[in-house]
Amino acid sequence: MGAQVNYWGAIGLGVVVLTALGVGLWVFKRYVIRHMSLPCQFCRNTRLTLFRKLPDDLKKSILTYFREHENRDPDEEGIFVCLECRTVHDDFSGEKMSREVDFYQVTTLCKVCSTLLRDCGLYNENIRCPTCGTPYKWQVHEKSGFRYLMPPAGTEVTSKIDDPGYA
Ligand SMILES: [Zn+2]
Ligand SMILES: [Zn+2]
Repeated sequence: MGAQVNYWGAIGLGVVVLTALGVGLWVFKRYVIRHMSLPCQFCRNTRLTLFRKLPDDLKKSILTYFREHENRDPDEEGIFVCLECRTVHDDFSGEKMSREVDFYQVTTLCKVCSTLLRDCGLYNENIRCPTCGTPYKWQVHEKSGFRYLMPPAGTEVTSKIDDPGYA
């Protein structure tokens, strides 16, 4: 009988420990995603700035791009900005989605069909989604003064970034 009690006790303890580990890991991942310093792939800046830490006027002009060019409100948690070379890594081209796929490559998701696009560096003049054919280009949006990985104006952004699966 004593052995029986210990057996169930051990299972109970195991469940508690595993749950705690799971929760711990989840919290850790969220923390890392939000606080780890991410380097810019395009210049020597080793620390991208989180969108929500930007001054309000910059936030406003960056949102202008998304509203005017992509006709949407982006996931602000997924936007990282390089203030050195003035590049916006958005919720699709941003590190948030790509980091677990390949941290050091320039990866993005197609804004139309969610296909993973690799090799989207500044040097690549001919980025095109192999699935739906949408072309992308790193371009400066005059009004906001920042550079974005732009689909053609009027492209309907239908992909959803809400559930990256690990955050
Ligand atoms: Zn940069
Ligand atoms: Zn596509």
